[in-house]
Amino acid sequence: MRVVVTGAAGFLGSHLCDYLIDRGHTVIGLDNLITGTTRNIEHLAGNKRFKFINHDVTEYIYISGPIDAVLHFASPASPVDYLEFPIQTLKVGALGTHKALGLAREKKARFLLASSSEVYGDPLVHPQQEDYWGNVNPIGPRGVYDEAKRFAEALTFAYHRTHGIDTKIARIFNTYGPRMRSGDGRVVPNFITQALDGKPLTVYGDGTQTRSFCYVSDLVEGIYRLLVSEVNDPVNLGNPHEMSIIDFARKVIELTGGSSDIVFEKLPVDDPKVRQPDITRARDLLGWEPTVGLEEGLTRTIDYFRKLAKS
Ligand code: UDP
Repeated sequence: MRVVVTGAAGFLGSHLCDYLIDRGHTVIGLDNLITGTTRNIEHLAGNKRFKFINHDVTEYIYISGPIDAVLHFASPASPVDYLEFPIQTLKVGALGTHKALGLAREKKARFLLASSSEVYGDPLVHPQQEDYWGNVNPIGPRGVYDEAKRFAEALTFAYHRTHGIDTKIARIFNTYGPRMRSGDGRVVPNFITQALDGKPLTVYGDGTQTRSFCYVSDLVEGIYRLLVSEVNDPVNLGNPHEMSIIDFARKVIELTGGSSDIVFEKLPVDDPKVRQPDITRARDLLGWEPTVGLEEGLTRTIDYFRKLAKS
């Protein structure tokens, strides 16, 4: 396949490019680098099956030649980033999705949207199944991301119904691994860099809120299976292993071998209290489930941040 990946220089986008190239596909990666970095794709420089274009996908996307698939991964994805770039976050979810769908339509390509567990907001149903419609505050600080992803899903389905495009919607739950930006503000890079620097880990609220963390290689495998499947309905992709943030902080301290303290800071507005994917649909329709355990995935991620600190 000849595949377009938007957000190619981001955390997930860059791993996706690697995966696709490893499987023999050709990738054209787009990114405007507001939260992504070319460091994530520099190892692909000179690769005949990879091309990078610095482009803001909220503007018209022109690519010459045939395209088999468009994977729309461009978006700030950390609460800290989307608070810093609220309008860009709304634009890339709305206008960027429109442009990416337009490209897929023009090229008669299949389309995959990187959606998010944030479409469920602060969920009142637990664990979250795909048929739950969510509990989102549209005007809260997280609304810029949540509503952008919800609009993106609505637009994707409208293109599917109206233009018959073969569209896929991946609802991605918390994913972690190498190439997360150390300063992106999410809990995994925050805790790891704090622990490696011997600083206290900043737990927001009382730390009883829960998340379920999926290692990036598992996630990317799920994305690919969804892409080549016949499924058009949204599919949750994530690791159902749920834990409290305070327990997660203790695990990071243990695995880094550090002796950091834990300090408690204010809980961000509308921070979801629980989150766990129900992955029955992914298991049944894609034969997919995560295989990398938390300790293994965290150990690899900690190694990455250790090397980054030395470079
Ligand atoms: N969090 C925390 N300390 C940090 C960063 C995040 O306690 O330094 C909490 C945050 O309040 C949330 C959870 O960790 O409850 C996951 O946050 P993240 O920003 O990774 O993403 P979210 O799942 O909220 O989108």
